[in-house]
Amino acid sequence: MPASTPAIVIRETVCKTVLNRSPLGGYSLNCYTGCTHACAYCYARFMQRFHPHAERWGRFVDVKVNAVETLKRQLRRLEPGDVFLSSACDGWQPVEARWRLTRRCCELLLERGFRLSVLTKNELVARDFDIFRGRPVRVGVTLTSLDESLRRLWEPRASSVQARIDVLEAARREGLRTSVMFGPVLPGLSDGASDLEAMFRQAEQSGVEAIWVDALNPRPRVWSAVAELLRAQWPELLPLYRKMLFDKDGRAEYLVSLQERIHMAARRAGVSDRLGGCVD
Ligand code: SF4
Repeated sequence: MPASTPAIVIRETVCKTVLNRSPLGGYSLNCYTGCTHACAYCYARFMQRFHPHAERWGRFVDVKVNAVETLKRQLRRLEPGDVFLSSACDGWQPVEARWRLTRRCCELLLERGFRLSVLTKNELVARDFDIFRGRPVRVGVTLTSLDESLRRLWEPRASSVQARIDVLEAARREGLRTSVMFGPVLPGLSDGASDLEAMFRQAEQSGVEAIWVDALNPRPRVWSAVAELLRAQWPELLPLYRKMLFDKDGRAEYLVSLQERIHMAARRAGVSDRLGGCVD
């Protein structure tokens, strides 16, 4: 029987693999299917194609209760390498506080010589700094904007903007390497020159060693959720989003202009040397 709240359904499941080769190189680890942070632009919605659920994206999470045993078995045959957490969920979403699967898998991976690259929107990650300390781990957070009112609408159950900034600062105090992903920056809401400069200044102040910026992408199943939010909050922005997502020339023009604003804002904030890959 699934344990449930009125809004979220949590199921226990068993998995065959938990660590998978990533198309970007290295591995990715996902201890959960689904993510209750419920970001409107979430690309991981495509998982519902392979794991259909009656609930909307963001309202369910499947807990891979045998994740640790599965990882132990997989590690017998795998060479150490880089592991990204997580590609199809947030490894530190609220259920992780109870199940601690991501934490236990990180412990195993670090014992076996793997290097971890963490990207999360949840302050729970700070719980695990004790096992990261002195190990090859880079702790990153994702921010789409510094505006908490935008965060509440676009990422309703993720940690606050300030809590994520606090994670970066706490990680740095622990001597951990840190990074920030600004993305997807939101057309007409958080992609302006002054928004980008404020984000980069925050990154500089937090002392992160790497900064990435991502644009909104036309991934499967994303548009209906984004359009629903826009219709409710910013109907005047619908044409802009349609153009940047679905009009080939309109998108190219948008990305060129965004690239220019990013590089100018990075120069102004003095972080150009830390800017990694940005919008494509
Ligand atoms: S935190 Fe990541 S995986 Fe979770 S809903 Fe948001 S974008 Fe999707």
